[in-house]
Amino acid sequence: MNYIRIDSDDLLNGEGIRVVLWVSGCERHCRNCHNPETWNCNAGQLFTEKAEKEIYKKLKQKHISGITLTGGHPLEPYNLMECTALCKNIKKLFPKKDIWVYTGFTWEEVKNLEIMQYIDVLVDGEYNDELRNIQLKYRGSANQRIIDVQASLKEKRIIIYID
Ligand code: SF4
Repeated sequence: MNYIRIDSDDLLNGEGIRVVLWVSGCERHCRNCHNPETWNCNAGQLFTEKAEKEIYKKLKQKHISGITLTGGHPLEPYNLMECTALCKNIKKLFPKKDIWVYTGFTWEEVKNLEIMQYIDVLVDGEYNDELRNIQLKYRGSANQRIIDVQASLKEKRIIIYID
């Protein structure tokens, strides 16, 4: 897997102050996507053990609420395995930090993936420019849902985390 960058102290891509991993590669190509430079899966650099350790170091800081995986598309088949392993490790090492993941797929398409076991919040659905709404928190268009993953898995229905 390649990634574009790792941000610290992000306030826009999830609740609190967050680390953000911007992975490379997205096949969705939504019209007017804000990050077309992330579409190429060969963009950026290889996600190495050093990059993983950098994330852990950032997550150790007390003021950091958690991590967000976005991009690009963390759930593209070529990114999925490494993102799953990363989320699994983070949950084990930092059980009090939350994990948010952005996906262009819908909840219905991804709810059975192993990675869902380790995620707290999923922002689902492609960015739809016709439904763009700048008032919405943590997402660009009204079709996207901010889902409480663990509650939804338990209840076997979508439980919205933030409307
Ligand atoms: S899924 Fe996200 S990164 Fe991919 S094209 Fe759509 S808005 Fe851009």
